Amino acid sequence: MYNFNSGPAALPKEVLQQAADDILHFQNGLSILEMPHRSAAIKAVISESEDLVRSLLNLGDDYEVCWMQGGGRAQFAMIPMNFLKPEQAAGFINSGHWAEEAMNYAAYYGKTLEIASSKTDEYHCIPQWTNIPEDLAYVHLTTNNTIYGTQFFDFPDTKVPLVADMSSDIFSRQLDFKHFDLIYAVAQKNIGPAGATLVIAKTDFLNRQANSLPGIFSYKTLFNAHSAYNTPPVFAIYCSLLNLRWLCNVGMDTIERQNREKAALLYQVIDGSKIFKGTAQKAHRSLMNVCFRGNNPETEEAFLNFARQQGISGIKGHRSVGGFRVALYNAINIEEVSHLVKVMQHFEANYQ
Ligand code: PMP
Repeated sequence: MYNFNSGPAALPKEVLQQAADDILHFQNGLSILEMPHRSAAIKAVISESEDLVRSLLNLGDDYEVCWMQGGGRAQFAMIPMNFLKPEQAAGFINSGHWAEEAMNYAAYYGKTLEIASSKTDEYHCIPQWTNIPEDLAYVHLTTNNTIYGTQFFDFPDTKVPLVADMSSDIFSRQLDFKHFDLIYAVAQKNIGPAGATLVIAKTDFLNRQANSLPGIFSYKTLFNAHSAYNTPPVFAIYCSLLNLRWLCNVGMDTIERQNREKAALLYQVIDGSKIFKGTAQKAHRSLMNVCFRGNNPETEEAFLNFARQQGISGIKGHRSVGGFRVALYNAINIEEVSHLVKVMQHFEANYQ
């Protein structure tokens, strides 16, 4: 099967194989699923995973790393819960559904300000921001818009702390992470299985925590407990560690180059097609999620069926926008993308 799902998504075969072996036998006759979370072995898993995140992203000592639960939506709520003071507002760049959800969640806790929005463009581009007020508690943005296939390539230059949802493009490209005060990413796209959420924050920003909260919702408590305040999702973290080791072996330079090649190949075929049309504006189109439409609903239906027969799964667009969406996360290799484009070209040549 060629798995182009947008999340949960494809993982490298060797990661799946190792995880399968470790389900049966991890250490001293125990399965990884049976290991106590406070055992030395699991502490070592957590600490190695945090170290690999640091080195892969080239993070300075002023950053801390923590695994949490609750997915993207828990972060949408916890960020304002922790960092939005009553006298301040949080700013949002509304580049799509998830960005808007983050803003809607924040409104439960305090004031929000929409700095820019591409809603009227049906989110086919990244909105342009001007004049970010300096008194905001933070500015939130979503670096890759999984549903619409758009991605940020520039970031606001502001003194206000930047908070980024990098769920669908973390570890896909090299960035200067110094721009960001808090970064979060659900595991189920480019990291590992669902159940773990990676959160990275500057110590200085964590110290700004405004409100006293129950431990499970407090960043300070969760970070101070090194991902084990309560029982963490050990297996999801372990699979993420296997994937991070795989990423280290491949190297971030190579990963980024491969991601650019995969996206270029697919966009080239879409741009040259008479029956498929890309939906995102060219300057903002994503290297991770490629969105396109067929020229009519019949073509779309026929292509989905044809692709399925050729072993391709997961290319149906998000239910809110329709069409097609192809995730090109790290585990997808160029041969798989070549297969997809050949299937697209074959379909266009023979069935139209
Ligand atoms: N942010 C982004 C960019 C997403 O693509 C998604 C969807 N997986 C979410 C947040 C929401 O994540 P969750 O389903 O874990 O709440």
